[in-house]
Amino acid sequence: MSKISNISLGYVMSLVLLSVAIFTSYSIVQNIIGSKRVLHRTESLVNNIQISIHDSVSVMGDFWIESRKPQPDARTLQLVKRRALASMQTLSGQLNALLNMRPALRSTSSWEEIQWVVDSSEGSVNHKLAGYLAKSNFALSSDAGVNPMLPIEAAGAYNGSIMAGYQKSAGVLREILDKKSVELKNVHKILTAAIIIVMVLLSAVVIVPLWRKLVREHERVQKAQVDLRRIAYTDRETGLPNLNGLQNQLMCSRDLEEGGTFHLLLIRITNLDELYGLIGSHQADTLVRSISRRLAGWGNEELGWCRSGEAEFCCVVRDARSKLSREWGQAFHRNLTGRLVIGGILVRPDVSIATSSMGSAAAWSDVLLWEHQSNARLASLSFEPAAGFIPEYSVSLRLALTEKNNLINQISEGINKRQFIPYYQLKVDAQTGSVSSVEVLARWKLPDGSIVSPGVFIPVAESAGLITSLTYSLFEQVANDVNSWCANGFRVGRLAINIAGEVLQHEELYNRLRVMNASLPEQCAGLEVEITENIVLGENTRDINSILENVRAMGIHVAIDDFGTGYASLQTLIDIPIDVLKIDRSFVLPMTESGSGSEVVSAMISLSKKLNKRCVVEGVETAWQWRQLAELGADELQGFYFYKPAAGAEVERFLEYTPDLKVTA
Ligand code: C2E
Ligand code: CA
Ligand code: CA
Repeated sequence: MSKISNISLGYVMSLVLLSVAIFTSYSIVQNIIGSKRVLHRTESLVNNIQISIHDSVSVMGDFWIESRKPQPDARTLQLVKRRALASMQTLSGQLNALLNMRPALRSTSSWEEIQWVVDSSEGSVNHKLAGYLAKSNFALSSDAGVNPMLPIEAAGAYNGSIMAGYQKSAGVLREILDKKSVELKNVHKILTAAIIIVMVLLSAVVIVPLWRKLVREHERVQKAQVDLRRIAYTDRETGLPNLNGLQNQLMCSRDLEEGGTFHLLLIRITNLDELYGLIGSHQADTLVRSISRRLAGWGNEELGWCRSGEAEFCCVVRDARSKLSREWGQAFHRNLTGRLVIGGILVRPDVSIATSSMGSAAAWSDVLLWEHQSNARLASLSFEPAAGFIPEYSVSLRLALTEKNNLINQISEGINKRQFIPYYQLKVDAQTGSVSSVEVLARWKLPDGSIVSPGVFIPVAESAGLITSLTYSLFEQVANDVNSWCANGFRVGRLAINIAGEVLQHEELYNRLRVMNASLPEQCAGLEVEITENIVLGENTRDINSILENVRAMGIHVAIDDFGTGYASLQTLIDIPIDVLKIDRSFVLPMTESGSGSEVVSAMISLSKKLNKRCVVEGVETAWQWRQLAELGADELQGFYFYKPAAGAEVERFLEYTPDLKVTA
C-alpha cells in the first residue's frame, strides 16, 4: 500500500514540477515572441522613417532644381512645398507611432536626442525645414519666381544638414534597436539554459528514481505473470502439468503435424478417499506422487501425463487403437494397482482406465480436452479390471449411463413408495425334503402390477448406494409375513436374508437385526444373513470378522452365498466366523444322470463337512440332483424342483399343501 502511495506521490510531484516548468517556459517564450514582434515593428517603422527622410531629401532636391530655373514654375514649387510639408508630417506621425509602441522610449536620453534632431524644437530638422520652406514661400511670393531670394547654395546646405539630422536620428534609433536585440538574445540563451537545467534536475531528482521504480515494478509483474502461468499450468503435488498445461502443450506439439488420430487416455484412482483414510491425509502427496511415477513410460512419450483431477491423470495418445491393446491394458492396470508402501502401510490403489476418441487434429475445437476428459470419465465407469479391456466413450455408452441414471432415480422413488416387496424361496432338508428354512428374495412391484427381478435392480442399487435402504425397506414386511404364517400354525425354520457388503458395514444394521429378531415369533428358528464370498476378501477382513462375530453374538447365523464363485482362499474360509456354506448353483448344473460332473460339488460338500459348516446347495432342479446331493451329504437344498420364489400369501399355501417330498433312494 505504502509503495503504491509513494509512487503516486512521485508521479504527482513530477507532474507539478513539469507543469510549472512548462508554464514558466511558455510565458517567457511568449514574452520573447512579443518583444521580438515589437522589435520587428519598430524596425520596420525606422525603415519607413528612413524612407521618409529620403523622400524629404529628394523633395529638397526637386525644390532646388526647380528654384534654379530662370523661370521657376510657381505651381511646381507649390507642389514641391506641399510634398515637403507632407513628408514632415509623415515623419512626425511615424515617430509618434514609435513612441506609442514603446512608451518607455520617452524617458530615455536617446529619445530626447531624436526629438531634438527631428521635432519642432529650435535646432531640429523639422524646424529648419519649416524655416526653409517659409523662406522659399516668401521668395516665391515676393519675386514672382524669377529670382528666388534664397540662394540655391543655402538650400543645398539646408538640404545637407537636414539629411544629416535625419540620418543621425535614424542612427540613434538603430542603436536602441540593436541594444534591445542583443538583450533579447541574451534572455533567450539564459532561458534555454534554465529550461535544460530544470529538465536535468527534474530527471535526476524525480524521473530517474521513478523510472527505476517503474522498471522494478515491471520486473515484479513479469515474474508474477511467470509464476501465475506456472501455477495455472502445473500440478503442485506431482510437478506434472494439469489439464490446462496439457492442452497448452498439445497445441504446440510437433505430434500434431504428423497427422493421425488421437485419443485421450484417462486413469482414475477410484479408492483414493479410502486410501487417504488408511495412510492419513498428510501422506496424500506421497501416494499421488508414487502413482504418478508409475505412469512414466506408459502412454505418450512426447506429451506425457497430466494430473487432471484429485484422483485422475490423462495423456494424449496418437493412433491409440493399435497401441492400447487388451494385453497392454492388463499390463498397465497391473502396474498401477500393484501394492504400495506409504508411511509403512501397505495399500493397493484401485484404478479404472478409459479413452475418448479425439479424432484428427484438423477438427479440434477450443474446449477439446475438457470435453474428452468428461467423456473418458463416463467411459471409465464401465471399466472392468478383470477384463483388462479399456472402454472407449461412445454416445451409446452415454445413453446406457443415462438409462442407468434413470433406473437409479426410479429405484430411489420405488423405495420411498414401498414398491420393493419380499418374495420367499423355501429350502428343504436334503434327507427328508421337508421345509427347513426360507430365503428372502427382493422383488420390485411396479404400479402396473408387473414384477421386476433382482438381477435388474440389485446391481444398480448396490452401485448407487441404495441397497441399504432397499434392504431395510423389506424388513418390516418380512416380519409381518413370518408372523402371519406362524400365527396360522406353520413353522419356517431359519429366515435367510441377503446382505450386501455396503449393508454389512452399515452401523445401523445391528439395531435393525436386533429389532427384527425380537419381532419374530418362536416358531421361526431365527435369522441368517447370506453374504457373498468376496465381501470377506477386502483389505479390512479383520473388521468384517468382528462384524460377523457381533452378528453371531445375537444368535444370527452367517452363510457364505454363491460359494465357489469368489476368490476366497481356504485359509480365509477357515478364519472367518461363519455357520453355513451355500454352494452356488453353477456347480449343480454340470451334474448329469450319467454320473459325471459331480466331482466338484462332492469336493465342496466334503470341504464344508471338514470345516464343520452346514452345507446348503442351491439350484436343484431335478429329483436326480436331489438324490445325488443327499447322498453326497448336503444338509439343505434349495431349487425350483422344490419351491420357486413366491410372495408371502402364496408361500403360506405352499406350507399348507406341502407335498410329500421324501427321499426315494
Ligand atoms: P441368490 O441369493 O443366490 O438367490 C438365489 C437365486 O437363485 C434367486 O434368484 C432364485 O430365484 C434362484 N434360484 C433358486 N433356485 C433355482 C433353481 O433351481 N434354478 C434356477 N435357475 N434358479 C434358482 P433371484 O430371486 O432372481 O435372485 C437373484 C439374486 O439377487 C440373488 O441370488 C441375490 O444375489 C440377489 N438378491 C435377491 N434379493 C436380494 C436382497 O434382498 N438383497 C440382496 N443384497 N441381494 C438380493
Ligand atoms: Ca442368497
Ligand atoms: Ca446364491
